[in-house]
Amino acid sequence: MKPSIYINISIGTCCLIFQIALYIVYLSKKKISNIDNRIYSKMLFLNTLTLIFFVSLMAFIYYDNISIATFFNKLALFSSLSWCLLFAFYIFIVINEKNKELLKYIKLKEKTINALLYFIMLIFLVVFLILPLDINGTPISSAGFIYWDFNVLFLLIGASILILYNRKTINKKKLLPFYLCFLTFLGVPLVLIIFPEVTFGFIVFTIISYIMYHTIENPDLKLLNELTLAKNQAEKSNRAKSDFLSSMSHEIRTPLNAIVGLSEIAHESNNLDDIHKDTEDILIASQNLLEIVNGILDINELDTDNLELTEERYNILEVLDELVNMIKIRIGNKDIKIDTYFSSLLPKYLIGDRDKVKRIISNLLSNAVKYTDKGTINFNVNCNINGNDCLLIIEVRDTGRGINPDNLDKLFDKFYREQGDIDSSISGTGLGLSITKSLVELMNGKIDVDSELGVGSTFVVSINQKISND
Ligand code: ADP
Repeated sequence: MKPSIYINISIGTCCLIFQIALYIVYLSKKKISNIDNRIYSKMLFLNTLTLIFFVSLMAFIYYDNISIATFFNKLALFSSLSWCLLFAFYIFIVINEKNKELLKYIKLKEKTINALLYFIMLIFLVVFLILPLDINGTPISSAGFIYWDFNVLFLLIGASILILYNRKTINKKKLLPFYLCFLTFLGVPLVLIIFPEVTFGFIVFTIISYIMYHTIENPDLKLLNELTLAKNQAEKSNRAKSDFLSSMSHEIRTPLNAIVGLSEIAHESNNLDDIHKDTEDILIASQNLLEIVNGILDINELDTDNLELTEERYNILEVLDELVNMIKIRIGNKDIKIDTYFSSLLPKYLIGDRDKVKRIISNLLSNAVKYTDKGTINFNVNCNINGNDCLLIIEVRDTGRGINPDNLDKLFDKFYREQGDIDSSISGTGLGLSITKSLVELMNGKIDVDSELGVGSTFVVSINQKISND
């Protein structure tokens, strides 16, 4: 057995393993579906076939089964020549990259062009099967080899002429595999003189396939998707900020104008009753303004992660009573009844962040009043006691106009308001629920909402507080 068989089998197997790995990597990578990629994936397939045929050919020579070895040799010549055909076509596409009209035409006729290419490949196959091949002779001594050499030369010379003709406009980087191919084919006769028995063509095809993998413009689609997502997110938040600023200037200006206007009237009036009524309205407008400013400050604090939980001992029933009083004032003249239920299991004193607990509940109650014209607001507080922990379950249910079920998950987004509310005279910033949710999560709690249009909404918050035993 000649040592060249071992060398050829080793080289062929190494190239095959490398080629299969390259093929797998290429197939598993997300890529844009352009003509370059479509040609390249066919080329990878053909080169894998060529290497399989080549290794089989060598194996059959090893077992002295010359007729089957000849058959595999013919197949290897067929697939490698088909590879060269696609390579030349790829060069043609690269050369005409800037010729948009032609590319458009090729894209349009891609099916016909493919059919033509397959037809030429079929001719290659038939010719190779018919032509005699003497694998033990020198390459020149067999018609099959001559046919192969002739066609490869023809394709290479054709591609070189095209490149020379278009040298000013072409993308040099993409032609790198071609230059390499050209150089190697020029160098092959030289190498053959030194190693006459070793088949180098297959290594060349594999190396070219590898270089092409890097020169085909294939943006990282995953990265591209992530960038697009980040860009959309940035645009969305920018838009939200602009919307917020414009709505904010309106929201701040309205109570401020009221305060200034009413103060002027009160200042000029001598009637104590009128002054009393005006100052009452000034107070409401000031509270509105304070709520807006607090919202902005809170959201800013939450955004910069500056918010920390404090721990203090507080009387929960006292807090709940304060909230009920506050909400009664808010209800004002509206035809709304408030029903409260505070579980008798509630411990008198809890330990936790009293102000934030109050803020969470107050936001839910304020919304219930704001978005309900008439009916009932149920304000229920239950608790689950577990050792020294008390899980507060706060439920605020209203008979207001409800929320579109499709929008329930957007409700806690910053600046989100239902379209109807943006257009209405109901004042709001779209920050309340976002702040509420952040506060609840800061306390490792949970907030849920359930709503039906025209029937009402229910918000349930569960937060854990410690029980104070003294
Ligand atoms: P806003 O300052 O606008 O009230 P929120 O963040 O508190 O901001 O609420 C966001 C939006 O959710 C509101 O604009 C409103 O459209 C809707 N919403 C909140 N609570 C209720 C509720 N109880 N009933 C109906 N819609 C509500």
